[in-house]
Formats: sequence, structure tokens, C-alpha cells
Amino acid sequence: MNAGIRLKPGRDKSIRNGHPWIFSGGIQSQWGDPSPGDLIAVESSDGRLLGVGFYNPESQIRVRVVPGAGLDSERSFWFARLDRCLSRRASLRKITNSFRIVHGESDGMPGLVIDLYDTVAVVQLSSIGTANRWEIIRDWIVTTLRPSAIVERSESPSLRAEGLRRPAGSIWWGGSPMPLMITEYRRHFWVDTVSGQKTGFFNDQRDNRKRVSELGHGRVLNLFSFSGGFTVAAALNGASTVSVDSSAAAIDGVHQNLHANGVLVDAHQTITADVFDYLRAETDAEYDLVIVDPPALVKRQADVNKGARAYKDVNRLAFQRVTPGGLMLTCSCSQFVDWTLFRQIVFAAAVESGRDVQIVGQFTQPSDHPVNICFPEGEYLKTLLLRVY
Ligand code: SAH
Repeated sequence: MNAGIRLKPGRDKSIRNGHPWIFSGGIQSQWGDPSPGDLIAVESSDGRLLGVGFYNPESQIRVRVVPGAGLDSERSFWFARLDRCLSRRASLRKITNSFRIVHGESDGMPGLVIDLYDTVAVVQLSSIGTANRWEIIRDWIVTTLRPSAIVERSESPSLRAEGLRRPAGSIWWGGSPMPLMITEYRRHFWVDTVSGQKTGFFNDQRDNRKRVSELGHGRVLNLFSFSGGFTVAAALNGASTVSVDSSAAAIDGVHQNLHANGVLVDAHQTITADVFDYLRAETDAEYDLVIVDPPALVKRQADVNKGARAYKDVNRLAFQRVTPGGLMLTCSCSQFVDWTLFRQIVFAAAVESGRDVQIVGQFTQPSDHPVNICFPEGEYLKTLLLRVY
């Protein structure tokens, strides 16, 4: 390696323990003249090589360690790592043709996400290191997955933090794909990989959808429904559903997905509205299951207090809609809200709503969104299943 950084004394422990991020404040000195995105050496304060990582002078995260990198030629290294990620997901193919192949740092590939929706691969880049290697990543996808198209859906906030600029919604390979249908536990969902939310569908809610397909009965209220993943799961279990989302396109998706699964659309209610307004206005109806799956209400550390209040408000209002003895499934996908804070928020909401609440299940993201035990930041989805009296 002809470039590298040396850490300040005492800053090597988390890196030795496998945490992949080196912040600018932890660096004592730097040598060589690396370009942004280059792999550089990471040394302890006494000069021992700890690993190699992507260098980015623009980012607070100055180096992102890539475990095992720097030994082979880059191309064969990345191909082998991507092969490994794919083979670890092999058993999911029995359940679905829609899953995450690479989950960033938790899969040893900082700043890279690849989702597969049947024949379309969707890529998110959020580190300059992976962005600079997009041709290698593309070649692996083309030769291994043989997709009909590759779409990039990098998100601007994480790009900005990395000083990266990428074309929005660009097509890397193949033509611009039309919405396609994926299958999960014999349920079918339309996915718009080019303009749908996130990378098109919430694969990370797969295990919770399965739970709802078993628990959802009677009357089910699905708040922040998006395209009705939970709605379809409950409807196929015989529930009558009400889905609420502020996006008209999402509500159209609920109709299409109910239809795609042979459910009589007219028997289910959809409401295009702000969930907070809807819950404040609608005071009578009670439900056997209320699902609360908002978007990340805390997007930056600085917004934790404001976002926590929003989570508390929506959970308090939702508790009031649960029939005594009924269930609530409530989620937070904010990385900045950890399990302890999430439980505190839901506790406060329960107290304020005057309901007695038991936690009957606690769940996180599914196996294709793994959490590296050295990198707890990778655990972002928290779900509480609650019995409400
Ligand atoms: N539960 C969904 C995913 C939810 S994503 C699933 O399982 O697929 C969050 C959704 O909340 C998006 O569809 C977005 O349009 C919607 N949304 C965001 N803010 C909202 C608000 N204030 N009121 C209603 N819907 C909102």
C-alpha cells in the first residue's frame, strides 16, 4: 500500500473488534497521496497494519474498512465477496424471488446495497469506494444474475454526506424496466423499481408480513400502508382492512396488489390521508390489529427529540384504535432510534393513551438484511408486537 492513515493511541480497539468506520477525529497522521475511493492502509498508533479501507477526504467517515480487501486483485476480490453474499441468500429463493443480496457494511461491502426483484437488480451506492467500482459491480451482476435490467437508486442525503454526486434513477444496463410482479410466500406484489419508494418494495418487512398473514383477522388498520404489503397479508387471512397512506400512488398500489392476489378490492377500504390527521379525526372505529409502520421519522442525530415525539404521538393515537384485547404491530426503521429509546417511546405512548400493554413479540429485520455483530448501527428495523387491553 502506498498510502494510509495511522490512528491516534487508543483508537484501534473498535477497529480490531471489527467496526468498519474510522472518523476523521481518530486519525493521527496520513501518508501518501490517495485519491477519494482508493483502498488505503489502516495502522494502529504503534504502526501495526489493522486492515485496509476506502479513503474519502470529503466525509466525516474518513475511512471505511473493507474486511479482507487488499490481498487479491480488486476484481476477483469483489467477485468472490459478491458470490458469497448471493450464496448466503440461496435458501430464500424457496420463499421469494425478491430479496436483498448485499446489505452494506453488514456484508463487508461498505456503502453498497443490491436488491433483486425477480429479474431486475437495484443498486444503491453510498460510499465513494463502491461508487468508483460500479463497473466491477455491474459486471458481476450481469454475468451472475443475468438480469433484464440494472437500476441505480442511490439516495441523495447519504450521497451528500460522502460528497458524492450520482445521476438519480439511472439505468446501468438493459432498458428502463416496467413495473414487475414479485412473489413472496405465494403472495404477489407489483414493484416499480424506477420510481417506487426505497428501491421499489419493502423486502425488510417480509417476516412481519408473514406474521400478519397469520395474526391478521377481524378488522385490520394498516397505517402508512405504502402498496399494501400488510394489507394483502391480512386480507388473504380473511381480515377486512383499512389502509391509510398520504401518497395516492401508494394507495393505487394497494388496489393493484389486492387485485393481483384475487382479493375483492371493494371489500377493503383505502384512504389517501396524512395518518396523524386521520387518527385525530377518526375517533370511533376499533380494530383487532393496528399496524404502525411509518417512514424513518428521525433521519439525523439532531432530529432525535422531534422524531421521538412524532413516534410517540402516532403510537398514542394508534393505541386508541385497538379493540380491548387486540394487537398492535409497531415499527421504527430509524437508525438513530435504538431499541431502548423505541421501547421508551412506545411505553410513554401506552401510558398517555391509558391502555394496558404487553409486549408479546420483538422482531428485527429479516436474514437478507443481516447485522454484523461488530456493527450494531446496521440494525435499523425494530418491531414490537403488543397486546392492548
Ligand atoms: N408499511 C409499508 C412501508 C411503509 S413506508 C410496507 O410494509 O410496505 C412509509 C409510507 O408512509 C410511505 O408509503 C409514505 O407514502 C407514507 N407516509 C409518509 N408520511 C406519511 C404521513 N404523514 N401520513 C400518511 N402516510 C405517510
